[in-house]
Amino acid sequence: MIACQTIVQILEKWAPKNLALDWDNPGLAIGDLSENVSKVLLTLTVTLETVEFAAKNGFEMIISHHPLFFKPLKSLRKDTPLGQIVYEAINNNIVIYSAHTNMDAACGGINDILANVLELQHIEILKQTYEEKLKKIVVFVPKDYKDAVRDAMCNAGAGHTGNYSHCSFNVNGIGTFKPLAGSKPFIGQEGKLEKVDEIRIETIVPESLQRKVISAMLKTHPYEEVAFDIYPLENSGKAFGLGRIGYIKESVSLKDFCKTVKQKLGTSHIRAVGDLNKDILKVAVCGGAGGDLIQAAIFSGADVFVTGDLKYHEALDAKAAGIAIIDAGHFSTENLLLPVLKGYLEQEIKLLNKQAEITIFKNEDPFVII
Ligand SMILES: [Zn+2]
Repeated sequence: MIACQTIVQILEKWAPKNLALDWDNPGLAIGDLSENVSKVLLTLTVTLETVEFAAKNGFEMIISHHPLFFKPLKSLRKDTPLGQIVYEAINNNIVIYSAHTNMDAACGGINDILANVLELQHIEILKQTYEEKLKKIVVFVPKDYKDAVRDAMCNAGAGHTGNYSHCSFNVNGIGTFKPLAGSKPFIGQEGKLEKVDEIRIETIVPESLQRKVISAMLKTHPYEEVAFDIYPLENSGKAFGLGRIGYIKESVSLKDFCKTVKQKLGTSHIRAVGDLNKDILKVAVCGGAGGDLIQAAIFSGADVFVTGDLKYHEALDAKAAGIAIIDAGHFSTENLLLPVLKGYLEQEIKLLNKQAEITIFKNEDPFVII
């Protein structure tokens, strides 16, 4: 068994909710995160079939990519598909949680999975949507504790710069303090001014890890009252965004690349825009409906943009701009997430010495090609 809250923490470690776009609505849709669960069902979209399958087979939690609710509800009617899903979930005590555009933008999320499946190299973000804020943390530590406190902070995620960890700056100084009535000083006596050799340790931390780093620092620091400062920084933090761009190993024709996309995505059909003899080397991708990123793909110099849900006018604009498009379908460009998500959850749950069965619901593309 494992608490839903713990599963959510595992998920949000990978795809933090602050990466989601403004219009999106990821997170808990139905249920109680304090519930313990033993069976979790993964799906792209929550349909009535998904919830009925979950209820019939004892699943206590559903994790979906697409949020159940996008627009505020004005009624919850049992004679609508959405109402039926909600009733079925509540009647069977099923928790429903989703990770949507936060999973699109996450490092290793849907867009990275798509880029990796197509074997792109030198992968970069196509359109940046979020940049993590950085903080500087400065703490004053008695000499004998400098290594322990620094290690605790860095092991909690402080001091990472590029390919370097445990980056910090340390300088000697004198700390002064006078313990007042009621204090329990680690060094010194009540009412007497103390002067202590201390080390000023300063290091950098992403805002998302600030609380974890401060907590680790306070646990290791010997003082009753720890002196520390947190400074906001203007330095650029880690970038996140939608879509990816990279290169295939060797230039191929659009026609041949179409065959590769079909095969790698396991789909029987795709739609293409552009001259089928055009050489393809630089490839942009966006899982799901990526029409909004066509301009970004054009500006980035991509030869082809692989996405789903392309509209007629978007196809015309792309053709006029000279970029080829492969519309491999919303379903096929996103469904790749589920096996990766299953593997990730199983691994993280095991690391916590907990147990839960993770199952992929057999999603199907609603479109039938005739
Ligand atoms: Zn989608």
